[in-house]
Amino acid sequence: MNNISEVLEGVHSVGIGGHVRPDGDCVGSCMALYLYLKKWYPKIHTDIYLEDPKEQFSYLEGFREIRKACTEPVIYDLFITCDVSSRDRIGVAGECFDTAKRTVCIDHHISNFGFAEVNHVVGDASSASEVLYALLDKDKVDQAIATAVYTGIIHDTGVFQYQNTNPETLFVAGELMKKGVPFSRIIDESFYQKTYIQNQVMGRVLAESIMLLDGKCIAGWIRYKDMEFYGVEGKDLDGIVSQLRLTEGVEAAIFFYENEPQCYKVSLRSNGVVDVSKVAVYFGGGGHIRAAGCNMNGSVYDVINNILEQIEKQL
Ligand code: 5GP
Ligand code: MN
Repeated sequence: MNNISEVLEGVHSVGIGGHVRPDGDCVGSCMALYLYLKKWYPKIHTDIYLEDPKEQFSYLEGFREIRKACTEPVIYDLFITCDVSSRDRIGVAGECFDTAKRTVCIDHHISNFGFAEVNHVVGDASSASEVLYALLDKDKVDQAIATAVYTGIIHDTGVFQYQNTNPETLFVAGELMKKGVPFSRIIDESFYQKTYIQNQVMGRVLAESIMLLDGKCIAGWIRYKDMEFYGVEGKDLDGIVSQLRLTEGVEAAIFFYENEPQCYKVSLRSNGVVDVSKVAVYFGGGGHIRAAGCNMNGSVYDVINNILEQIEKQL
């Protein structure tokens, strides 16, 4: 695909959906596409589905129009996923994806083998937002659309810090800046800012974390009862694994929280030597070389031991 218009011919209705627990890139790419279609294809009926997106993205235009569930069965002419690496990651809009007449997937995950009819996957792009931007007419990208794309890029690159940042990423960011994106505010409010409680929880996890494999690995976790005590959910815990990764000498960082008794959502981060996507895929998850995740069961020590075994093989 060279331009999104290629898949819009004869289309009267479009559904857009991201992945479960939508992150900044997921929200940014889906919202950018939504705003673009609403503005430039007003005759197409467009809906957007995202599972409970974080309030910190509420500065994005159209944020309140996001549908948080597939309440009635709608058959779309076209369903487009952004930042979704596999069918089982679609989440709230899964039903609409299955019943749509045509499907398109726009993504950047190396673990994405293509689950839609048209799969536009650029594995070396920084973010799904950057992949999407390349498919848009640049003169049609207004400030609101640019703000959504910029949000996605800064979240998946850790504000241009991670290895997935490349000259094209910075070029695109420059073009978006020309559109008047309020970049300082976006970076502060959507990326770095934490609530007082989030900081407390991060502090506690860091304080209780353990170093493993001669200091090459670090693990931190939080149990369900402690999440209840602080009144936090999974989406409040973003950023903890990134902080663990920044520990001197560490090659791989593991963070997990207990979704329900003995069921954990695991986040993995690498500083380059370990391909954590391989580890996550081994346990039924996926992601990127330096950032991946999966779900695991058992005790805290089962999770650590099982993951450690896979990481050790790579060290
Ligand atoms: P996070 O640790 O921030 O939840 O996720 C890091 C990366 O791994 C993201 O790109 C995300 O898409 C991917 N990821 C996290 N959890 C899973 C999972 O359970 N399955 C798959 N396929 N990918 C995941
Ligand atoms: Mn992404």
